[in-house]
This record gives sequence, structure tokens and C-alpha cells, in this order.
Amino acid sequence: MQDRIWLTHYPKQVQPTYEYPKQHLAQFLLDSARKYPEKEALFFLGKTVKYKELLDATYRLANGLQSLGVKKGDRVAIMLPNCPQAVIAYYGALLTGAIVVQTNPLYTEREMEHQLNDSGSTFLITLDILGRRAGNVLGKTGIKHTIFTSIKDYLPFPKNLLYPLTLKKDGLTMKVDYSDTKHSFKELLSQSTSSPVLVEVDPEHDLALLQYTGGTTGVSKGVMLTHHNLIANTHQTKAWSYQTKEGEERYLAALPFFHVFGMTVLMNLAMLQAGMIVLLPKFDAEATLKVIQKKKPTVFPGAPTMYIALLHHPSLRQYDLSSINICISGAAPLPGEVQEQFEAITGGKLTEGYGLTETSPVTHANNIWDKRKLGSIGIPFPDTEAKVVQSDTGEELDVGEIGELIVKGPQVMKGYWNAEEETSRTLKDGWLYTGDMAQYDEDGFFYIMDRKKDIIIAGGFNIYPREVEEVLFEHPAVMDAVVAGIPDEYRGETVKAFIVLKDGAQMDEEELDRFCRERLAAFKVPRSYEVRESLPKTLIGKTLRRKVVEEEQNKQQNA
Ligand code: AMP
Repeated sequence: MQDRIWLTHYPKQVQPTYEYPKQHLAQFLLDSARKYPEKEALFFLGKTVKYKELLDATYRLANGLQSLGVKKGDRVAIMLPNCPQAVIAYYGALLTGAIVVQTNPLYTEREMEHQLNDSGSTFLITLDILGRRAGNVLGKTGIKHTIFTSIKDYLPFPKNLLYPLTLKKDGLTMKVDYSDTKHSFKELLSQSTSSPVLVEVDPEHDLALLQYTGGTTGVSKGVMLTHHNLIANTHQTKAWSYQTKEGEERYLAALPFFHVFGMTVLMNLAMLQAGMIVLLPKFDAEATLKVIQKKKPTVFPGAPTMYIALLHHPSLRQYDLSSINICISGAAPLPGEVQEQFEAITGGKLTEGYGLTETSPVTHANNIWDKRKLGSIGIPFPDTEAKVVQSDTGEELDVGEIGELIVKGPQVMKGYWNAEEETSRTLKDGWLYTGDMAQYDEDGFFYIMDRKKDIIIAGGFNIYPREVEEVLFEHPAVMDAVVAGIPDEYRGETVKAFIVLKDGAQMDEEELDRFCRERLAAFKVPRSYEVRESLPKTLIGKTLRRKVVEEEQNKQQNA
């Protein structure tokens, strides 16, 4: 049904269905390196790595991992920021037939321990400067071998630091006492051969990735993504970006690769398209502006907070951002204003997409160059079906009715790792229940109203925080906002808005209240406001509404 919408919203070259190659995920890198050996694959801290060099290092790592005993199906955890080693580790581990477990370098010891144990990881590739934290945890896990790299290991460190890393210069490395179980990444590469490694996989059944949902809700679970899931979603993304050209695009990697959005829409897509990846070890507005001017990236996938941070940078107008052609914003709602302002500054297109870890991740997006709607997540990707249903009965809802968004397609996960019950609650007859409340219009465009669990119920009325936040974002004094339901004796819950003001703006609660009343039904208008310096975010830029609620609850208990 919905998948046919593509026939009307996209040009002929974008087909509603595809035959995805039945291959190994790392084949993207092998093919591009064969076709374009001399092309630049990576740019990091002022240095470039050609495709042939990337392939050489990746084969060396794969051989090195095998020499340490990595076998097909083993879980290899990677805990790295964006850097060449993160790409080498990912494809190197995949070539051995291992399953990659992406681990967030900012995890606390408790989170790290949970993930390493739950996934049954036996190998870990990480940074030396994370060594102490890892060291405290490793003894409590099944990790047999750890491979340490340094941010300046793989590439000579440039004299002029392009990026203001928060780490002090002398804090960029840390001494590791190497042993039979602790290895140097650099040594492993130099001691291993670069002879080809490609352990055969069954793409539709064998896992490439165990991706823990860093989401804002629930206990973290491992999402099982097969080689085929990721290959399909990368090809679907390529179809969506139908005007881009193989061998010519430059991808700005501000999103981390350890999040599935950065992994597919940047790393895998760039490898499929033989593009160059401009790597940022962490998002920093100034560093991003500088690198855009210097390396002229054409594709910049991001999260709304990144575009907002750039738009608010005081020297924004001093930089030339005209190389940017395409941006896809995901992970959280994109305020319409941000979209318009960012397009005006770059001259490129910024469109909203949607997805989740369980779908590799993209399921919806607006057409970049043609039909798109502000505030909508767009239409389903090729081969992707989407419906809005009543969560409890599964009954399909009509245009304009709000219900749970469910999706089906080749990018939908195999299930949750070691969690059959959770899997059967989320996957029914191939349909993935997203937990997001949505509606669609007569043109087949979908709109996320909110997460199921985030609904505020005040006096029996359902309030979708996103709708209220959209209004707050329109106010000229507001830079960032999140709305939460807080306990209320009379109404059960009531709406409270937490706001970050723009530089120099003053809080005028009466004015804000009037502004909201003009635009929202009375029951949705926040009953109170609180000005904050900043709002808690996940690394990918999703506001942690739950954290705000917890903080509020603690405050009330201590009052
Ligand atoms: P994750 O699995 O961490 O990528 O989180 C997925 C969740 O992010 C989805 O279930 C949505 O709740 C949210 N999300 C992703 N994209 C959007 C979007 N464009 N608008 C609103 N929410 C989004």
C-alpha cells in the first residue's frame, strides 16, 4: 500500500522494490577499493587515507584478529570515537565473520559491563585513554583479548590541531602495559599480513551487528541486525539520495559510527558510494564549521541539535557552507524553523527522516529534491510498508487518526538478542511495533506525534509533548525546549516546559503563555516553565525527557 507512494513521489530511477545483493556487508569496501584504489576514503585531523590504504589496514586487522583466535560468530566489541581505526575495526571484524558490538565510549562502567556481558563479547577494540575505565570492568566480563589504539596511533599527529579536542594534548595517549591479552592495534597491523580475508556468511541469517539501543526508554537490549538488513538499508538510502554520484560525494561524519544512524547513513553508504568520509571525533560546532569550509563535504546527516548548534554559533556567517547539498536529520523531531534557516545558510537541502535501531535504522524520509512536507518524517523508504494501528488490537487506522506506527521491510531486525519475549512483543507477523505514535495524511506523508510512553495524560486528555515543543520552538526567545508530564494531584499529570533561552533573550512567562494559548488548545498549554542552561541529551542529540522528569521528581521529593 504505502510503498507504492514512491511511484508518485519519486522519479523513475527510484524503484518501489529492489533486489539487494546477497553478499557480505564488507563487500562495499572491497568493491570501492578495487574500483578506486587511489581515491581518498577518509580524512581525519588533517590526514587522508586512500581506499587502497584503508583496505590494506582492514585486511591486516582481520588477519591479526584471526591470529588472536577470532572466529565466525564471535562478538567483537568496538568502543571508539569516529577515527580511521573505527572504520578499520568495523570492517576488519566483519571480514572475519565476527559480529560487531558497537559500544559508546562515554558509557559508564556499569553500562559497559552490562553490554559486554549481555552480548557475550570476547574481544574488545578501544582507545588507550579509555583503558582505565575498561580495566575496571574487563575482569567482570568474558573479554579475552583487548586491542588498544591511540588517537594518534594510526596517523601521524598533525602539528596544527584542526579540532579543539577537549582532551589536553598530553592526555591524548595513555601508557598500556601490553601482555598476552592486551595488544597494540598498531603492532597488530604491522605484524599481520594484508592478504585477503573474507569469511563466508549467509547474509540473511548471519548477524553483522548487535546494536544496543541507546534510546531514551527501557533497559538496553541488543538488536540483531543481519548483513542483509544493513545492506538493504544502505541501498535504500542510496535510492533515496538518487541525485548523488558514485565516487564524488564527501560525507561529513559528525554523527558517531557507534550509533546505527551514523553507521548506515554515513559509514556504509560512503563505502557503497566510494565517497570520502570527513571524520569528526566528536561533534563541536566550531570544528564542524571549520572542516566544512576546508574539506567541502556535500552530504551531512545529523541530528537536530547539531543543526541548531551550528545555526547559533556566533561566527556562523564567517564560514562558507555552500558545499553542503544534502542533509538528512533523524533521531528526533526537526523543528521547521531550523530546517528553513539551515537551508537558507547553506543553499542545500535539509530534510527530515525517521528510523530506529530496530530498522537499521531508516524507514521514512522526505524526498530531498521534490515533494516534502515540513514537520513530516516523509514517506516510507522503498520496499518499506508502514501502517498506523491501534496498539492493543492491531486494527489499522485511517488518514488523520493517531495510533502506533508499525513498519515492515528488509531492514527490520531479526529480533532482540537473548530476549524472546521482548522480540515477540515487538515483532508480530514481520511488523515491527515502533512504540511511536503517528498519523498520516492523504498524500501518504507520516507525522510522528510522540513516543507511546511519552504521552502526557492531563485530566484524561492525551497531550503529545512534541506538539507543544513545536510551538515553543517557534517563539523567538527559545533555543531549546522539552515538555514533560509532572505529577498533579488534580489532573494526574500536568504539562511543564523546560526551556533554554537564546543568547541575550529574557524570560517573559506571561508572554510565552499568551503565545502558547494562541496556538494550542488550553489543556495543552504548559502550566509552568523553567529556564535551564542546557537540556540533558544523548550523544546523538536526543533530549532525555525521562531524565528531565526524574530530576523534577527528585526535586519535588527533596522539597
Ligand atoms: P534509536 O533507536 O536510539 O535510534 O531511537 C529511535 C527513536 O528515535 C524512534 O523510535 C523515535 O522515537 C525517535 N526518532 C527518530 N527519528 C525521529 C524523528 N524524525 N522525529 C521524531 N522522533 C524520531
